[in-house]
Amino acid sequence: MDKYNLILLGPPGAGKGTHAASLVRELGVTHLSTGDMLRAAVAEDTELGQEARGYMEAGELVPDELVIGIVRERLLRDKLSSVLFDGFPRTVAQAEALEQVAAEAGLPEARVIYLDVSDQEVVARLSGRFQCRSSSCNRIYNVRNDNLRPGEQCPACGSETYQREDDQPEAIRRRLAVYREQTAPLIDYYRRREQLTEIKAEGDRVEAITARVLAAAREGAAQG
Ligand code: ADP
Ligand code: ZN
Repeated sequence: MDKYNLILLGPPGAGKGTHAASLVRELGVTHLSTGDMLRAAVAEDTELGQEARGYMEAGELVPDELVIGIVRERLLRDKLSSVLFDGFPRTVAQAEALEQVAAEAGLPEARVIYLDVSDQEVVARLSGRFQCRSSSCNRIYNVRNDNLRPGEQCPACGSETYQREDDQPEAIRRRLAVYREQTAPLIDYYRRREQLTEIKAEGDRVEAITARVLAAAREGAAQG
């Protein structure tokens, strides 16, 4: 079995969740979305959820230690050996921590797939975006592409769909600013280390972009 340590990097709304679903299907990787993990903690009102909630609703990053902690715990507890990180790392400190934790977990060197999307497109996508409330489904929809509105039933699993608190215009602007300041430096960080594959993630059909993402991911496979 091939082992993967894949990172999807890109602005909010770049399509990380959508492409992640294809990578899971095609490569059998375990999807680790820190956003989904944090939202689940908030929904369950755990201690972690209570700490994270305020940051998330404001569109700010949750402190590094919290996020690194949940990723580390999940990797080691479930002994994951083939993973796809989505929404993580989001800061240089998280990237450095991931390197250590990945080595500890026996993962290969990370291959980073950067989804390049313009700000204008990001805003258009996020304001129409909503998702399934079921934590085992989490499917993402958009009023632009799907014949569905927030609040209606998820066609995949029947749960209710909803628009996220942080997909309101003010929070979208804040998340974009946070992305530029704190996360975009990772593009250079991974480029310098020759771990980055850059993909233009707009303008084509989703399936065409997914095909490019899959090809890039397969280059990052390690035997084992
Ligand atoms: P998106 O990619 O659409 O911005 P996510 O679902 O990845 O959304 O994340 C939603 C929110 O969860 C972020 O705005 C942030 O508050 C928090 N979050 C998720 N991942 C991280 C992370 N790696 N570091 C810090 N905060 C995070
Ligand atoms: Zn669903």
